[in-house]
Amino acid sequence: MNHFELRDGELYCEDVPLAAIAQAVGTPVYVYSTATFERHYTVLREALEAEGVHDPLIAFAVKANSNLAVLRTLAQLGAGADTVSEGEIRRALAAGVPPERIVFSGVGKTRSEIAFALDAGVCEINVESEPEMLAIAQVAQSLGKRATIAFRVNPDVAAGGHAKIATGKSENKFGVSFAEAERLYAQASNNAWLKPVGVACHIGSQITDLAPMAEAFEKMAGLVRRLKGEGLHVERLDLGGGLGVPYFNQPEPPTPADYAKVVAQATRGLDVTLAFEPGRVIAANAGVLLAQVVHVHERPEGRRFLVLDAAMNDLLRPAMYDAYHDIRAVNPREGEARPYDVVGPVCETGDTFTRDRALPAFESGDLVAFMSAGAYGASMASEYNSRPLVPEVMVKGGDYAIVRPRPTYEEMLARETPAPWL
Ligand SMILES: *Cc1c(COP(=O)(O)O)cnc(C)c1O
Repeated sequence: MNHFELRDGELYCEDVPLAAIAQAVGTPVYVYSTATFERHYTVLREALEAEGVHDPLIAFAVKANSNLAVLRTLAQLGAGADTVSEGEIRRALAAGVPPERIVFSGVGKTRSEIAFALDAGVCEINVESEPEMLAIAQVAQSLGKRATIAFRVNPDVAAGGHAKIATGKSENKFGVSFAEAERLYAQASNNAWLKPVGVACHIGSQITDLAPMAEAFEKMAGLVRRLKGEGLHVERLDLGGGLGVPYFNQPEPPTPADYAKVVAQATRGLDVTLAFEPGRVIAANAGVLLAQVVHVHERPEGRRFLVLDAAMNDLLRPAMYDAYHDIRAVNPREGEARPYDVVGPVCETGDTFTRDRALPAFESGDLVAFMSAGAYGASMASEYNSRPLVPEVMVKGGDYAIVRPRPTYEEMLARETPAPWL
């Protein structure tokens, strides 16, 4: 459920007409709903608690939407943050996420990032390989600090979703095998600079089938039991993120309640604190990308192009993952739906949001909304083609605030400095 709906023939975000935001801020622009963020977080938390999962750490995956206003909205509800870079840790801290709720993940953490995380006091660094474990121990020693770590295990299950976002097969770059996890856990437990507290997995993204999740969670629970059986201290099991959302053309994803049942079933009696790293399921349907129609271009042979002022640099998912976004008119016109190719102005054929999509009549100047764009939208945006970075707006009830302004052209150019010989 989300808070973007038609009222009197006009698309609203909560109590604000999207057209009013487009008018005030210009397009393209991302618009987020506070109420939807809050609802998604709360529904997930309550579903887990209803299944007896007590006091879980729900660490929002910052890469899904790293805007400080979004992070602060979630932090105020008690969310933690799953981070994959020093920049993301800094964002989480700046948004008020306490360090004891920040998880630091990622396959290529540099020594300086590890040092930063240790100084900040994050609750867990998820170790993705043996060389990384050794690097963390060295950095910890040099700082005179003991590093709290968890091992990210690659449970070797195929979780569907697009190949570019599947992470849980052994051929993917993420995590260690079960055998390695056992060996490294024992080794780390004997290292004065390491404090292993648990194990973690994250098998992919936009997962719409619970079976692979159930399989991965069972395997992880088995690992926890084996480690405990060896007398090792295990207090936390991090089950990652990955739950899919409805993008309208896809199989209905499992509900948070179904997901929570699978979690509870797999972890019953384990006596560990559970952690989760949801990104998309919290953020996707809490945001839209608003764009304006520049031209409707009908080719004589029949193709009809809806040329927008938004492009692949603003919303990369269709170009990168063939992702589907529902496209809606902000002020729908009467008339029959007709097939359109919806494209941006960037000089790449990949700058096509969709082809042959049946959409209502549009005219130049009309506003369109890409639905479900709150996750992996603004956070993946760039200035490709020297298009200023897309702004972001947060709505709460009848109020809205620009939470990342669009840079001016002067600001964009001022970031670069000429080489002294030029
Ligand atoms: C990307 C990522 C997530 C979030 O995935 P979603 O599909 O957005 O829920 C969680 N954990 C890790 C380690 C990730 O890389």
